[in-house]
Amino acid sequence: MFTIDKYIVVDSLKQAYELNQSKRNTIIGGMLWLKMGRKNIGTAIDLTSLNLNKIEESEESFKIGCMSTLRDIEVHNGLNSYFNGLFSKSVEHIVGVQMRNMATVGGSVYSKFGFSDILTSLLSLNCYVELYKGGTITLKEYVEMPLNNDILVSIIIMKDKRNASYSSHRISSTDLPVLTCAVSNIEKQWNIVLGARPMKAKLTQFTLNEKPNEENIKSMISNIIDSTSFGTNYRGSEKYRQILADVLIRRNIEEILHGGKYAS
Ligand SMILES: Cc1cc2nc3c(=O)[nH]c(=O)nc-3n(C[C@H](O)[C@H](O)[C@H](O)COP(=O)(O)OP(=O)(O)OC[C@H]3O[C@@H](n4cnc5c(N)ncnc54)[C@H](O)[C@@H]3O)c2cc1C
Repeated sequence: MFTIDKYIVVDSLKQAYELNQSKRNTIIGGMLWLKMGRKNIGTAIDLTSLNLNKIEESEESFKIGCMSTLRDIEVHNGLNSYFNGLFSKSVEHIVGVQMRNMATVGGSVYSKFGFSDILTSLLSLNCYVELYKGGTITLKEYVEMPLNNDILVSIIIMKDKRNASYSSHRISSTDLPVLTCAVSNIEKQWNIVLGARPMKAKLTQFTLNEKPNEENIKSMISNIIDSTSFGTNYRGSEKYRQILADVLIRRNIEEILHGGKYAS
């Protein structure tokens, strides 16, 4: 359980940022992860009055405000039809609808959880994060940065016509994942993301022929597995995760190339 001394619904991002510079103060999203901890919060900073719970679609991109929930992106027609159901597939196993109705995209991406399904899928796309102080940077750069006291304002996904696919493996359907995998393809470029290794999601990029054959795919997968570190925890061993990585990457490639559900 956590405690809160003071609760402020801010009326600007500037006010939120200034309050957030004190180590005792904390931005609150859906509060689902925060409530699992024991933090003594000085001031809880609530962003709900800032109109940041919208998903906006333009010709070039989708802009997802940080207070949008995982459920908002799960059921968003534009996002899901553009990315072939990637978003609904990447959040459907996160606990349940009630939980996804509360968990925010901002709280999920800001935290860079090692087990994050949504970080895995977003990292396979041409995706940026808008930070209040740090400006707009690629999600890839953001993932590699240490956490700081900035505010994640929105997530921007470029519409670049890539194909994408997502799969994860869990011991039981609503548990945290043993491994997550997203694959996207645009022209000759393949983007493979592996998360829950059990470390945070990692993107590997490859260039293959326009029409890759079985040999090309096999060699790409074994290169990715060799160059990615996998760990062991009570959900699975390093070896088990390597085997799963082979299967999940293949399934996603198969879906992108042939629309099939599983590779042979
Ligand atoms: C029981 C349980 C099971 C879960 N299972 C899964 C799972 O299987 N897969 C998965 O991907 N996720 C899972 N999650 C994580 C969940 O999906 C959310 O990512 C998580 O709850 C954080 O979102 P939140 O809105 O609750 O953030 P909060 O708990 O409110 O905040 C989390 C952190 O982010 C900070 N923060 C929030 N918003 C911002 C912002 N806009 N800018 C800067 N900092 C911000 C907060 O200060 C805090 O440090 C699980 C969570 C729980 C509690």
